[in-house]
Amino acid sequence: MVAANWKMNGLRRGGRDLARALAGLKRAADAPACDIVICPPATLLFELRDALQSAGIALGGQDCHSEGMGAHTGDISADMLADCGCSHVILGHSERRMDHGETSKMVCGKVAAALRAGLCAILCVGESEDDREAGTALEVVGEQLRNSLPEAGGSADIVIAYEPVWAIGTGRTPNAGEIGEMHQHIRNLFDALKTGGKSGLRVLYGGSVNAENAGDILSIAGVDGALVGGASLSAEKFWNICAHYGR
Ligand code: PEP
Repeated sequence: MVAANWKMNGLRRGGRDLARALAGLKRAADAPACDIVICPPATLLFELRDALQSAGIALGGQDCHSEGMGAHTGDISADMLADCGCSHVILGHSERRMDHGETSKMVCGKVAAALRAGLCAILCVGESEDDREAGTALEVVGEQLRNSLPEAGGSADIVIAYEPVWAIGTGRTPNAGEIGEMHQHIRNLFDALKTGGKSGLRVLYGGSVNAENAGDILSIAGVDGALVGGASLSAEKFWNICAHYGR
């Protein structure tokens, strides 16, 4: 899976152009063999739905509330995302954990809500630079995962995105050994918490993935795809990342 996180970028015209360009590339005979999910701002979901879905590209939200409806000004429920045509939702992104004070417990409620609405949750976890330097990255991410995962759900409707906070938008990435070790740790923990066996969980890497480093990162054992921020705002750059999955 290669998922695009457009974050708070895109007005209607630019969003439409980008979606059309991606749909055109996807329709080409040599489209890559991976699931592609585009997560635009909420204002563009309905607008872009038909263009993306008609080309076999999935639509995702960037957050949802933990409740189904009610007095929560400015929030969007998982049912609303599903109603707009979303099949996926990014949850627990570090920008939301930081900007909106989202704790893992709150994220857990959101994941549960997403599953109830029939969405696939792309659950983000990742350590800070201080955690990495202190040697506690595995512990911190393990704790986030334990506290962000609801009882419900499994590898069919939950995807984990490992996104080191210090790698997001910085052009820096962990080395291959660090990424491989963390993905294995996440998979082991998920299996222990969920199934007690091999679950087929997909673990994406996110943080400064671009067309140049995608080949190396996506080839690391245990990396099942990428969550892409900055580079997903260019159809060509995003497509070159997806193209790693063969033509
Ligand atoms: C992200 O924020 O999810 C992300 C991966 O950003 P970037 O690719 O820009 O580092």
